[in-house]
Amino acid sequence: MKVLVPVKRVVDYNVKVRVKSDQTDVDLANVKMSMNPFDEIAVEEAVRLKEAGTASEIVVVSIGPEKAQEQIRQALAMGGDRGILVTTDVDAESLGVAKLLKAVCDEEKPDMVIMGKQAIDNDQNQTGQMLAALLDWPQGTFASEVAQNGDKLHVTREIDGGLQTVALNLPAVVTTDLRLNEPRYASLPNIMKAKKKEMAQKTPEDYGVDLTPRLSKLKVTDPPKREAGIKVPDVATLVDKLKNEAGVI
Ligand code: AMP
Repeated sequence: MKVLVPVKRVVDYNVKVRVKSDQTDVDLANVKMSMNPFDEIAVEEAVRLKEAGTASEIVVVSIGPEKAQEQIRQALAMGGDRGILVTTDVDAESLGVAKLLKAVCDEEKPDMVIMGKQAIDNDQNQTGQMLAALLDWPQGTFASEVAQNGDKLHVTREIDGGLQTVALNLPAVVTTDLRLNEPRYASLPNIMKAKKKEMAQKTPEDYGVDLTPRLSKLKVTDPPKREAGIKVPDVATLVDKLKNEAGVI
């Protein structure tokens, strides 16, 4: 089984993001960037499938600036076989990314695409679903377990009422949830080996995809500041305030 793993370069999850003073976006100057955490989980799962003999090749793809090479190299150090970087300075929207990934799938013909359920920078949670629709492939979203079962892929999904398992025909798109696995750290020898792995450089034009944004961002603002709490003298006052001031009971 050939597996394609899209990985996105995003602001590191430990960074406290600042909004630009003109409120056009968040400030990315001198900010630590990393692989989207849900994509790390996707890479880990692909590597485990390869270690189990289920996957034969892992192709890692990223759409973004030149520096997204770093995230592809990290995925290769974790166990990916080769990378494809589609370079663009456009902050690509989900539909544009999904169209590019579809074009990559048309060329690479993977049996499975495994990717994050959402990118932590824009929280869209739609690229995987859009890709499955464009490819007309089945999808298993929010996966907490993935197993090949004969010619089907069994994907256990985390839903409100518990766990749901779906059987997908291959090829299929899977999106990862937090509990699927715990990604490994790449070892130093593997980081060195990853430097020699093949990485193709492409452009959106090579795939005939126009990434011109369709949405305009009106403004970006900080969340409201948390107000200071108060101390109440006894339970009766607390209940009174919850009932008559906060209106929550
Ligand atoms: P989103 O729908 O934007 O929340 O992203 C969901 C998933 O789509 C991410 O976890 C990535 O696997 C993939 N993705 C989104 N944008 C990109 C990108 N620029 N390059 C590669 N993969 C991406």
